[in-house]
Amino acid sequence: MLILWYNCYGIIIYIISKLFRGSSAVERLAVNQDVAGSNPAPGAVTDCIFCKIIKRKEPARIIYEDKDVICFLPKTIHVYGHTLIVPKKHYESLYDIPEKDLIKLIKTAKKLTLAYKKKIKATGVNLLHASGKDAQQSVFHFHFHLFPRFKNDNLDTWPKLPKIKVDPDELLRKLKIM
Ligand SMILES: [Zn+2]
Repeated sequence: MLILWYNCYGIIIYIISKLFRGSSAVERLAVNQDVAGSNPAPGAVTDCIFCKIIKRKEPARIIYEDKDVICFLPKTIHVYGHTLIVPKKHYESLYDIPEKDLIKLIKTAKKLTLAYKKKIKATGVNLLHASGKDAQQSVFHFHFHLFPRFKNDNLDTWPKLPKIKVDPDELLRKLKIM
């Protein structure tokens, strides 16, 4: 009888400790989510759709997230595996994003490229970006579009551009920065 009670007591202690650990884990997760999403990111813009996704005010299918970067599927998926790579801090474009944040995004693009090679057998990748209204930027929170590519996917993501008359040497003189 004593042994049976001892065993039951042991099981009860075990269950309580498991429950306690479980709730701690839930609390930790909540804290982590708060750090990652609920609290406004520094410089967050309240009417920015990407800031809302980062703050979990708008739903998104999140592929990857760390403390600086979030990657999710766009609302309209143009290409199989099309993914947006977005800094958690609100920067508008290449004009204002600091180099250190840009490096993190490029590293993430590399991470996704390697992951998609394994996960969906992508054999190539396009990284698309627009900075500025005149460059057809539509969401003014810095982002890259990552398009995984596949053999014979019949896509042409390279823009068809008109030929222009220009003196390349004059252009070189104007553009050269070193
Ligand atoms: Zn934003």
